[in-house]
Amino acid sequence: MTPLEQLLVVQEHDSAAEGLRHRRAILPEREVLARAEAEVAALEPQLADARGRRDEVAREVKRLDDESAAVTARVKEVEKLMYSGSVSSPRELQAMQADVEQLNKHSRTLDDRELELMERQEALDSEVGGIEQRIGDLRAEADTARGALVEKESAIDAELAVELEARGTAAGVLSPDLLAAYERIRQSNHGAGVARLIGNTCQGCRLTIPATEVDRIHRQGAEGTVFHCDNCGAILVPTT
Ligand SMILES: [Zn+2]
Repeated sequence: MTPLEQLLVVQEHDSAAEGLRHRRAILPEREVLARAEAEVAALEPQLADARGRRDEVAREVKRLDDESAAVTARVKEVEKLMYSGSVSSPRELQAMQADVEQLNKHSRTLDDRELELMERQEALDSEVGGIEQRIGDLRAEADTARGALVEKESAIDAELAVELEARGTAAGVLSPDLLAAYERIRQSNHGAGVARLIGNTCQGCRLTIPATEVDRIHRQGAEGTVFHCDNCGAILVPTT
C-alpha cells in the first residue's frame, strides 16, 4: 500500500471515530437526563416552600389546640368552683357565669379557626405530596436514563477504542510530515484531509481538475510528489 493509500485508511478511522463521538454526544438519554435533573432542581425549592407553609400551619394548629385545651380547663375550673357551693354571693356567681360564657365563646372561635387551618393543612399536604410524587417520578426517570446512558456510552467507547487503535496502527507507518499535513488540512477543511482523484474529479469536493494537471499528478505522484486539490486543499491520491 502506498503512503497515500495508507493515509486514506487513517482518514477512514478518523471519520469513524468522529461519527462515534458525535453519536455519543447526541445520545437522547443525555437530554432526558438533563431535563429530568433540571426539573427536579426547579421543584426542590417549591417543595421546601410548600413544606415550610404546611409546617407553619401545623404549628398554628398545635398552638390553637393548646390554647383551646387551656380554655376548656379554665371553664371546668370555674364551673367546679361555681357548683362547689363555696361561692354564695349571687354577684360573684353571676360574674363567674359571664366568665364561662366568655370563655366558651372564645373556645368556639378557636375551634372555628382551627378547623379552617386544618382544611388549609390538608390542601398543603396534598400540594406537598404532589410535588414529592413528581420529584420521585423524575428521579426514577433520571435513573433509567442515566443507566441507559452509561451503557450506551461504554459501548461507544469500546468501539472508539478499536477505531483509535486501528488508526494508530495505520498512522504509525506514515511519515510525520505527511500525517501532520493531513491533520492540518482535515481540521481546517472540516472533512477531507485526503481524497482520491478518480478520473479528473477530486472525491473530497467533486471539483473537476484540468486533464493536463491530472496527467501531471499521475506522473509526478508516482515519483512521490504530493499534490493538493486547488479547491478543498485535500491531499490527492491518484487512483486509476
Ligand atoms: Zn477537492
